Amino acid sequence: MIDKLKTLVRMQTFDDEIGRCRELQKVLPEQLHTLIQDVEEATAHLQESQNVKDGIVKRQKELEGEIKHNNELKLKYGNQLAEIKTNKEYKALNSEIASLTAKNGEIESQLLELMDTEAEINKQLAQRQSELKAAEQRKAAKEDDLREQISKLEGKIEELRRQRTELAHTLKSDPLVKQYGNLIKNKNNKAVAFNQNGACSGCGFVIRPQIRIELDLRKKIHNCESCGRILMNRIEDCDPVDDSEE
Ligand SMILES: [Zn+2]
Repeated sequence: MIDKLKTLVRMQTFDDEIGRCRELQKVLPEQLHTLIQDVEEATAHLQESQNVKDGIVKRQKELEGEIKHNNELKLKYGNQLAEIKTNKEYKALNSEIASLTAKNGEIESQLLELMDTEAEINKQLAQRQSELKAAEQRKAAKEDDLREQISKLEGKIEELRRQRTELAHTLKSDPLVKQYGNLIKNKNNKAVAFNQNGACSGCGFVIRPQIRIELDLRKKIHNCESCGRILMNRIEDCDPVDDSEE
């Protein structure tokens, strides 16, 4: 009987490992996805800042062009002043020149504001460039390794399954094998539970004193009266299994 129990514990060890691989099959692709997404987001953020900066530079050029145009007009009107005959025309042209000067004043203060905005956006650009660089470095450092791990998992699971099935064959056609398989399927990948300080390690149900005595004797297979898992005392020289509760 002890050999049978040991085989069950070893089968459970393989199933625990299979369970960990299945968990990795969920977690690793998520990690990979996050790495890729971080780079995409950082790239989009950088592009956003660059677009704002391009807008500012374009607006600056437009305003500078307006100033230049106004100055040319002022020069032209200034030259015309010398040829003016009437006082009325002279006044009109002078007020035109004054209004151009005032316009340029306004444009210059707009340009100053734009310079402040540009300084801010330059800071943001530098920040976002370093964020993108960091995201790219994280991706470069981990991507290949993650892809390799992911690609190997299925094969690893197959191999673990094969080893577990080999163990199951040593139990011949004992109905325990079928029971074990059903428990793995229906009890959160845990078919074997241990007497842990008088309680089932699978569900925490307190084991009756009579059953505890029988567990010590190891004469027959016991099932937890609550969760139905195959219940036994820990076996000294047997592979330890992780027995987290449900
Ligand atoms: Zn139980």
